[in-house]
Amino acid sequence: MLRNTPEKIWLFDYDLTLYGVEERCVINSLDHRISLFVQKTVGGDFESAHKIRTDYLERFGTTLAGLMAMNQVDPDEFFDFIHEPEYLTYPKKSPEKLALLQSLKGSRFVFTNGRHDWSEAGMAHMGIDTAIEGVFDLKQLDWVGKPHDIAYEKAEGWLRQKLPTMGRSVPADSRDIVLLEDSLRNLEPAHRRGWTTVYVNPDSNVPDWVDYHIPHFLDLKIKNE
Ligand SMILES: [Mg+2]
Repeated sequence: MLRNTPEKIWLFDYDLTLYGVEERCVINSLDHRISLFVQKTVGGDFESAHKIRTDYLERFGTTLAGLMAMNQVDPDEFFDFIHEPEYLTYPKKSPEKLALLQSLKGSRFVFTNGRHDWSEAGMAHMGIDTAIEGVFDLKQLDWVGKPHDIAYEKAEGWLRQKLPTMGRSVPADSRDIVLLEDSLRNLEPAHRRGWTTVYVNPDSNVPDWVDYHIPHFLDLKIKNE
């Protein structure tokens, strides 16, 4: 069980972590916009755009990285298009998530491969935005996100800057940085840096190096001291 101490820095991935697979329609609505953006950029029909997207995902890690490398896409233009609220679905209100977040001592931030406005809108819909103290997003990462090591390095740098402005100090022990993530690929670099890893996924294949495994965010159990 995770110790709930004031030194803890809780870093939450947003998509499929702060809301779970049961709300997959949220990420699906975004995926649809991404395919439309690819179609708008490369031309052709929706199906061929979808194939290009799959190809970019495999070759570059994300659709955006492929669009930037192959089509000179401006990332902000990409996010402005895919984040148009009228086309998107957001996670439902959750007082339970709010209560859980509020019970966590220490600092609470979102660390996401999306642009901040997407997670901020989603958290406002869930009613948990007041419990999150900041969002460290892909834009602040200069568009090179998890699982690249540089993203985690920058996250640590961001914390070193941010925490003193909140009257808090950077934890001396890297294990006090806790990353909650639905993606093992994104958790592994955190583990290598000595952070505490929480795998939030109904998946039952859990590698040994994962510190804690919970199917859903609401399953998080903490020990108060
Ligand atoms: Mg995720």
